[in-house]
Amino acid sequence: EKLCLPDILRERAAENPGSRALLYQGYVMNYEKLQKEIERFSLFLRNSGVRKGQAVALLLPNCIPFVVSYYAVLRIGGIVVMNNPLYTDRELEYQLNDSEACALITLDLFGNRGIQLRRRTGIRSIVIASLGDYLPLPKKLLFHIFARRKKLSAPVDRAKDLVYWKKCLRRSAAAPTGELSNLEDVAVYAYTGGTTGIPKGVELTHANLSLQVQQCAAWFPQFKRGREIMMGALPYFHAFGMTTAMNLSLYKGWCQILVPRPKAEHLLEAIRTYRPSFAPLVPAMLAGMLKHPDLRKTDMSCLKGAFSGGAPLSGSLLRDFEEKTGVRIVEGYGMTETSPVTLINPFDGESRRKPGSVGIPISDTRCRIVDSETGGTDVPLGKRGELIVAGPQIMKGYKGRPEETAGMLRDGWCYTGDIAVMDDDGYVFLVDRKRDLIISGGYNIYPAEIEEVLNSHPKVSESCAVGIPDELKGEKVKVFVVLGERESATAEELLDYCRTQLAAYKCPALVEFRRELPKSIVGKPLRRELRDSGAKQDG
Ligand code: ATP
Ligand code: MG
Repeated sequence: EKLCLPDILRERAAENPGSRALLYQGYVMNYEKLQKEIERFSLFLRNSGVRKGQAVALLLPNCIPFVVSYYAVLRIGGIVVMNNPLYTDRELEYQLNDSEACALITLDLFGNRGIQLRRRTGIRSIVIASLGDYLPLPKKLLFHIFARRKKLSAPVDRAKDLVYWKKCLRRSAAAPTGELSNLEDVAVYAYTGGTTGIPKGVELTHANLSLQVQQCAAWFPQFKRGREIMMGALPYFHAFGMTTAMNLSLYKGWCQILVPRPKAEHLLEAIRTYRPSFAPLVPAMLAGMLKHPDLRKTDMSCLKGAFSGGAPLSGSLLRDFEEKTGVRIVEGYGMTETSPVTLINPFDGESRRKPGSVGIPISDTRCRIVDSETGGTDVPLGKRGELIVAGPQIMKGYKGRPEETAGMLRDGWCYTGDIAVMDDDGYVFLVDRKRDLIISGGYNIYPAEIEEVLNSHPKVSESCAVGIPDELKGEKVKVFVVLGERESATAEELLDYCRTQLAAYKCPALVEFRRELPKSIVGKPLRRELRDSGAKQDG
């Protein structure tokens, strides 16, 4: 279908007005109501001066106002800027300025931060929603009594150009008309995870979003329209959750569960209460649920599949989770720049899935493994090289960064910066990131290999290896280690262990123990941060 997402959603609402679209803390919103709120909110945005091509920032967790405002902005040809509400003011200020956002939709919790940010950014108007805006009646009353104490809401200073969410939806004039969004227009600025550098604004077009959702739907066509329940636990302000939970469910006419705080206990509670059939998750969420005491009382037989992506999934986590819960995990691969899904294991047929692999290309997608130095020639099967991908889901570019865009998109291929291997059946196995590669005395060292060894030590719960400057060798390996609960170990003990498993040039030169590792939203250790702190301490 060559249609923008808001047009597809309008069709779904007309076909099945009464079917459930969103589930939020016991509140149910059907497709007809959702569509009506989107029309009203898009009209509000138009009336407050938002024009085609202008950016509107969302600073929201997964909640009904997120879905409504996302679709309303797309509907009038605006561009959605997705922001992590847990970012600091400095990080938000950068993203709001970089995206040139003119309006902000946020929660009362973050309202005063929004007002502060308005002084230092191009934000003119602010819309304030509350987590209590959509709740069934008894919960609503309790919310108003207890929300402040539980830090679920906060009073917002009165300021000009500040409107409350419910007020924006009150007017019921005609919906905005005319041709508003085109497939080739930019629809979203999605910021990258910031794992390896400063987050970059990825320009995804309407065509990217719409075709990507159709690629995902084509991957498991046996599941019919309107029948399934999707777990919306991944943050929607990241491409992974945006596509696989929010947009895919609406495209299929399914129902989605909005989980605003994706802690293990909330995930398990949502599974017990709403019985989802599919759950896209990151490995950190799988690990969190596996460790949580509520796992025992949670029957997961409703889940027909859990999808894992965004960060490496260890073989032991996959095995343990499947054994303990009976839920099948399907691993895929993608990045913000590719909307995000490009590779995934087949859904049907146990024999066609390969544990440890991120799978094969999704429909309409091609991939190659090329020489990571020259970029031009394919490496033989089984050899390491840079993974490159092509398909209709590849971004238009990075906003305002032509050089970075040119480095990433070459001759119709997207250079992922991930090092991978392809086996004889065309399945891809990720090795590491090109930029994380440690080069010591002329040798290439893959941090993932060192981490795998350390993590296999019985006392180690987590580790991260980085390269820090070394006068003689260029770089040397430093590892950050988190020990298991109530464990103690010395650096020497761990180094001895490494020496039995790794060639001398790969062995760490330094060990630092940490209580926890700094992580990105999808649970990846922030290597850049560790590298910087490691280098500082060392020299
Ligand atoms: P930045 O680009 O700002 O440094 P980031 O690359 O972490 O941040 P994302 O777009 O969220 O931001 O993540 C994409 C990356 O996540 C991929 O390039 C890849 O390294 C990693 N990744 C995705 N899926 C998997 C997977 N299944 N296993 C291992 N790594 C994965
Ligand atoms: Mg990246």
